[in-house]
Amino acid sequence: MGYNHAFVAGNGFMKKLGVADLEVKGRRVFVRVDFNVPLESGVVGDETRIRETLPTLRLLIERGAKLVVASHLGRPKGKPMAELSLAPVGERLSSLLGRPVKFVGEIAGPSVDEAVGKLVEGDLFLLENLRFDPGEEANDPLFAKKLASTAEIYVNDAFGAAHRAHASTEGMVKHFRLAAAGLLMEKELHYLGMALSSPPRPFVGLLGGAKVSDKIDVVRSLLSKVDRLLIGGGMAYTFVRAKGLPTGKSLVEEDKIELARELLSEGGAKLGLPQDHVVASRFDASAETRTLPIGEIPDGWMGLDIGPATVAAYGEQIRKSKLVVWNGPMGVFEMEPFANGTVKLAEIVAESDATSIVGGGDSVAAVGRAGVADRITHVSTGGGASLEFLAGEKLPGVEVLTDA
Ligand code: ADP
Ligand code: MG
Repeated sequence: MGYNHAFVAGNGFMKKLGVADLEVKGRRVFVRVDFNVPLESGVVGDETRIRETLPTLRLLIERGAKLVVASHLGRPKGKPMAELSLAPVGERLSSLLGRPVKFVGEIAGPSVDEAVGKLVEGDLFLLENLRFDPGEEANDPLFAKKLASTAEIYVNDAFGAAHRAHASTEGMVKHFRLAAAGLLMEKELHYLGMALSSPPRPFVGLLGGAKVSDKIDVVRSLLSKVDRLLIGGGMAYTFVRAKGLPTGKSLVEEDKIELARELLSEGGAKLGLPQDHVVASRFDASAETRTLPIGEIPDGWMGLDIGPATVAAYGEQIRKSKLVVWNGPMGVFEMEPFANGTVKLAEIVAESDATSIVGGGDSVAAVGRAGVADRITHVSTGGGASLEFLAGEKLPGVEVLTDA
């Protein structure tokens, strides 16, 4: 729907069948969604993930499909756990949709078969938490076949689970002739795919967060695509050390210094490092702090945020760019004295004319905290999945969908 996937050809990506292209009237459609929401004493906390699936569910309902909806929630490790039941999620979904959601508290078996058999056009039936069955994460072929037997068409709208080859994201899909991407999935593939295959330029990557080791592949992949890769956060210090500068007690991965040195020489002028930083005597919001040039740090102190000169320099690059892809906070944004770098850059990204894509669990939280999420072009819902995608890896849950 709406998205031009022409760019995906020629770069290893294939255009996938989209949910809007399906003939669904009177057909049973299995919809894999990501309802992995926080529950607080049996009540849904943040309902964002449920809201985000509504366009796909509404489209299918309006077109007269019979919906079998499924998700995982938390880590029950293959056993039923009352506190991880999808029952409260079903209730919230029902109030958001303004229509009943059928639920029998089972994933498979006679009660599911009976309920599915009775569905009429526009009905929505929610399965119990898929991870209550060990077959889900094990991608067990029999479990996958059982799930597939509930429907005639498959739709995946759970981008956040697409990097896992589980029964509901991969195993069951081969039982369907038609397997389509939902609207949310299509949106993710559109924006992230654009960044990797036909980015508007100048293209600036903004990369931070705690560790280099979490993101080596993202660094390498982005380095080959961007015009500038600006590094901040804890991971910057392994690079700072690789340049032979002191880092005090900042987060440095000793065993990654050599790698950082290689990346510095590969990346050359593309790679930007902080010029200054906010250092603290302790890892604590009430610690004594100073703003110093990078490479200057009192013994035993640690760098916990980028400084104002770095914000200005990175900000200038962002203002000149046409595309910004951001993963990883620039500092310990969870603590007020070290949030400035992340918040200021979030504001600059939001105000710029660039297309902006933010991915990663903490990065999305940081952009929310800065109050600018609605001015970011695309906030990726898939933490791990968006990172793997940006690292250039193929996502099993996407690969298996029908090519358009
Ligand atoms: P994302 O979830 O967006 O991929 P990460 O998980 O890689 O991001 O990193 C987020 C974490 O990095 C945050 O908890 C933040 O406090 C931490 N962090 C950022 N800068 C520093 C720093 N200078 N020192 C230590 N931790 C940092
Ligand atoms: Mg994180």
